[in-house]
Amino acid sequence: MAGSSHTYEENLTAGDTHMARFTDEPLPHLIAGEPRPSVSGKTFTNYSPIDGAELGEICSGDAADIAAAAEAAEEAFGAWNSTPGTTRKAILHDVADLLEARAHQIAVTECIDTGQTMRFMSAAALRGAANFRFFADQAPSAADGLSLPAADHVNYTTRSALGPVGVITPWNTPFMLSTWKIAPALAAGCTVVHKPAEWSPYTAHLLAETAVDAGLPIGALNVVHGFGESAGKSLTEHPAIKAIAFVGESSTGSMIQAQGAPTLKRVHFELGGKNPVIVFDDADLDRAADAVIFMIYSLNGERCTSSSRVLVQESIYDAFVEKVAEKMKRVPVGHPLDPASVIGPLIHPRHHEKVCSYRDIAEADGATVIEGTGWADAPADGQWVAPMLFTNARNDMRIAQEEIFGPVLTAIPFTDEADAIKIANDIEYGLAGYVWTGDVGRGHRVAHAIDAGMVWINSQNVRHLPTPFGGTKASGIGRDGGDWSFDFYMETKNISVALDTHSIPKLYN
Ligand code: NAD
Repeated sequence: MAGSSHTYEENLTAGDTHMARFTDEPLPHLIAGEPRPSVSGKTFTNYSPIDGAELGEICSGDAADIAAAAEAAEEAFGAWNSTPGTTRKAILHDVADLLEARAHQIAVTECIDTGQTMRFMSAAALRGAANFRFFADQAPSAADGLSLPAADHVNYTTRSALGPVGVITPWNTPFMLSTWKIAPALAAGCTVVHKPAEWSPYTAHLLAETAVDAGLPIGALNVVHGFGESAGKSLTEHPAIKAIAFVGESSTGSMIQAQGAPTLKRVHFELGGKNPVIVFDDADLDRAADAVIFMIYSLNGERCTSSSRVLVQESIYDAFVEKVAEKMKRVPVGHPLDPASVIGPLIHPRHHEKVCSYRDIAEADGATVIEGTGWADAPADGQWVAPMLFTNARNDMRIAQEEIFGPVLTAIPFTDEADAIKIANDIEYGLAGYVWTGDVGRGHRVAHAIDAGMVWINSQNVRHLPTPFGGTKASGIGRDGGDWSFDFYMETKNISVALDTHSIPKLYN
């Protein structure tokens, strides 16, 4: 992962500069290309995870603001959808160019708003720009279909954009995740109303503002801030919105499905995870340990595909866990803008309390708690944590079954291949799985047997944009990535043309 090319001091100065614009006026919605306050005039306060200071006021949207944004998206849809794919491609590349030019501003803002560290966020805008470029390149062929010839007919399919769609995103890596949803929607010809998470509103504004500055037509991308139960719910219920792409908790997904039912919303859900990493005794244990550490302690452990349950073969359990513990204790916690920090403060006091509560839960259940080193200079009112490792755990403990979503790893022993698969699948989630083994056949066998949408063998989560992304069970519905994204944002039509050779039944005497 790229580090920042800027020093800690430069990042702090940039932070002051970039955040200053958010302190004078409440952060507005962006509707039809214009900053707008809420119709109700309501705002809410956004706080720093670093020291609890007020960062600024945010306009709090509800049904009236969603209606205005949906109307803007509806009005923009006809022109954007009929814009040639090659032109959409060029505009979306312009958006990517400008995101790259503003990458440092976006990274600094994301660090301060979410507590994620610069070590990872320096790549956020670049990853976002890469998402825009990847889907931009597919825009000219997005409507292409299949040729499915039959004996007497030529069948062919075409695809067309659904219409205005809603995108609802969470607070973990919010910028990158938003681009992952919004870029394919725009490339397909849809227009978008984006409801970002209330705990991390700023970079959603920067994304929409950048898109407008780069020449995206007015109304093609609108942002309404606010809470899930008001702005989010209204978006899922609005009749002009044809689909909801949602990333967040499993319980919220089920609420959205119910809210969207009366208007028959198409939904795509990327939800929670409690992903197993299975480490067999014939694996390259140093690489496996580094990957486990990376997947749970990067991004503050606030990562849906994190390696939150490590299943280790009994014969190497003690040695492997000791190796992980030793490395974990050297993972630096520090200010998010310090390029040397890996773990920063957690997003919100409520989330901090939840993550920390698992220390007591682990002890009460009989697991052993090993803690890493915190940050000695951590401001008192921030949501700081040290990394944690729970050993001697069983899969039926809460620390093994519940998504903690922090820098907290649960290590569980297993006996053999069948036992590993049984434990891996004994969970309500099915997002990702990881297998470490020196036996190629076993790697494939176990990957097939894990009930999850994505499995990596001898690797951490290394994404390839054309591949499908998504989960099974409580981890989601549907896939995106590559052409899967277009399938979601587009309607497929079959056209059947007779060769005038078939007989037509005559129903009369
Ligand atoms: P959340 O479900 O609390 O909130 C996500 C978004 O939904 C927010 O914008 C929120 O305002 C909105 N929302 C809440 N209630 C709503 C409602 N009734 N109607 C419409 N919108 C509503 O999730 P979170 O706590 O922000 O994010 C963390 C969760 O996201 C974790 O469970 C994590 O695993 C998951 N996640 C999954 C993936 C994936 O790809 N599977 C990726 C990232 C995060």
